[in-house]
Amino acid sequence: MASLPDYEPLIGLSGVEELRELAKRLVGQRIVMVNSTRTGGGVAEILNRMVPLLGELGLAVRWEVIQGSVPFYRVTKAFHNALHGRPETITPEMFDLFLDVGRHNANRLVLDDDIVFIHDPQPITLVEQRHHHSTSRWIWRCHLDVSHPHQAVWKFLEPFIRQFDAAVYSSSAFAQRMVMRQLLVAPSIDPLSDKNRELSPPEVDAMVQKLGVPQDRPIVTQVSRFDVLKDPLGVLEAFRRVRRSVKCRLVLAGGPATDDPEGEEVLSRVREQANGDPEIHLLMLPPNSDLEINALQRASAVIVQKSLKEGFGLTVSEALWKARPVVASAVGGIPLQVKHRYSGLLVHSVEGAAHAIKQLLNNREYAKRLGENGREHVRQHFLLTRHLRDYLLMFLALGHSGDLIYLNGHRSR
Ligand code: UDP
Repeated sequence: MASLPDYEPLIGLSGVEELRELAKRLVGQRIVMVNSTRTGGGVAEILNRMVPLLGELGLAVRWEVIQGSVPFYRVTKAFHNALHGRPETITPEMFDLFLDVGRHNANRLVLDDDIVFIHDPQPITLVEQRHHHSTSRWIWRCHLDVSHPHQAVWKFLEPFIRQFDAAVYSSSAFAQRMVMRQLLVAPSIDPLSDKNRELSPPEVDAMVQKLGVPQDRPIVTQVSRFDVLKDPLGVLEAFRRVRRSVKCRLVLAGGPATDDPEGEEVLSRVREQANGDPEIHLLMLPPNSDLEINALQRASAVIVQKSLKEGFGLTVSEALWKARPVVASAVGGIPLQVKHRYSGLLVHSVEGAAHAIKQLLNNREYAKRLGENGREHVRQHFLLTRHLRDYLLMFLALGHSGDLIYLNGHRSR
């Protein structure tokens, strides 16, 4: 695993020193991250890299995962969809189960750290135990687009959210009118992880061959959990339209997340629609298939992210970092990453996606330029080191009574 000095070629010695300088003021601070899964999805992806690096910077950081049953995760998935604005039927029993599992986890987790970081709604009720440890600062890190939430779910969560010291969102468009502090911190990718590090062309070829995807024609890929909101059926339809005029293959690569019980159902619907088509490759990858995903992204002529709703959409930055041309829906945090016709193409429909994919397959020079611009955009805004810096500053600010914090060697009061 990469350590801090390894990031020097990317952000310079001064960038690494700045992180150390900020962290010095926090040495020994105890921080706990709490979420609902260790594998699958963007939150786990970030925590897997963020936690060790915060530790290397001298913070006493740990990562706890709540325990839940499949019925609980069905409830939280319904909440997730509802918060993204999708119509869902939410019953009183679902709220009761959510609270029950919350109580169970409150009994097993002691959260007395200086900073308690709760990710997304699943563990949100844990905030009720904050009065046991009055010096802790509690942060709700919301990774979802809650700009148009299902009102019943939002109203249910609101009394919990209000108990936090701050809520952190990925985009200003997601924030809600609330009494407490709201902060914006965009997510990030780790350029040195197996998912994103450089791979040589022979390494890419060997891996893609191992996955059974021939490279005899351009590959169009979407990497995502098999989730209705990632619209795999829409990608399939767009691909079929593209293939009428341009030869290509489609890869839909996804894997399970322990907190998402819908994956199997969605995959079987996609499998039915694909109907054994030899140019459509459905890959159900086990957890930690980072090198496989890295190679697939690098081998692709176009990367698609045709989400109907999205939190941030880490897969977009992952593709752009590899200088791949991206076609992605203009939802959630994707427009932060893709500037239309500069670092990719934003689309709003299956027809739009098909048109954009064709355009990129037919004009390789244009596609290359978009990919290169995308890589630079990610380098400037969405690397893990920027994310670490934002969090360190936030921890300092939250431990403070509102005075200014100076970064050049001294701080006020
Ligand atoms: N991912 C993975 N294996 C898969 C599918 C996705 O490792 O089979 C990773 C993907 O590379 C990305 C993360 O899971 O790092 C998904 O994050 P994103 O923000 O795109 O979507 P989320 O799943 O959190 O909605």
